[in-house]
Amino acid sequence: MKLNRRLNQLSEAEYRYLLVNYRRYTDFNSLGLFRSLLENERLDLQQRQRLRDAAADAFPKFYEFLQLKDPDTYFGLNTLGQELTVADKRAAWDEIKRAQQRILSNKRIRHRNFGLYTKHNCGYDTCPFNGLMVRQGARLAEGVMSFDTDKRISNNRHVDHRAEQRRRERKAWANTQNYLAE
Ligand SMILES: [Zn+2]
Repeated sequence: MKLNRRLNQLSEAEYRYLLVNYRRYTDFNSLGLFRSLLENERLDLQQRQRLRDAAADAFPKFYEFLQLKDPDTYFGLNTLGQELTVADKRAAWDEIKRAQQRILSNKRIRHRNFGLYTKHNCGYDTCPFNGLMVRQGARLAEGVMSFDTDKRISNNRHVDHRAEQRRRERKAWANTQNYLAE
């Protein structure tokens, strides 16, 4: 049987039904489920938090593995509703990095999938993602920054990278102009 519904349009009650009955649906996938909890605009914060907990209870190993599979989504879910300082965010990312090492030290994952993961290295020494394992082709790995619909906190640092780069370029340009004017 097919779900034939977009996960990010389900109500809380529908999610709860799905968490019990997901085996009936051939097109169900747990990654999509977790991602949809951040994207679903029908849910308020409390509903999101309750469903995150329910989903993590239903798929404890997958939720743990999400730290490697899609750290961005994990971070967003795990810190739902929390007001994080820069230091808090850094600590949360450090925790994810430690969990990734734990997961990767499991031999099976190392041999089968290690090549799919690469360390984030955007060139900024202060980037909290440095050393974070990300799937090749994942948004974080590419350092692609999005300004449109993606409101996830973890991208802000990358937006900062770009803003900083633009500031530098403007400054360099301004310096050139001053030089020419003198
Ligand atoms: Zn970075």
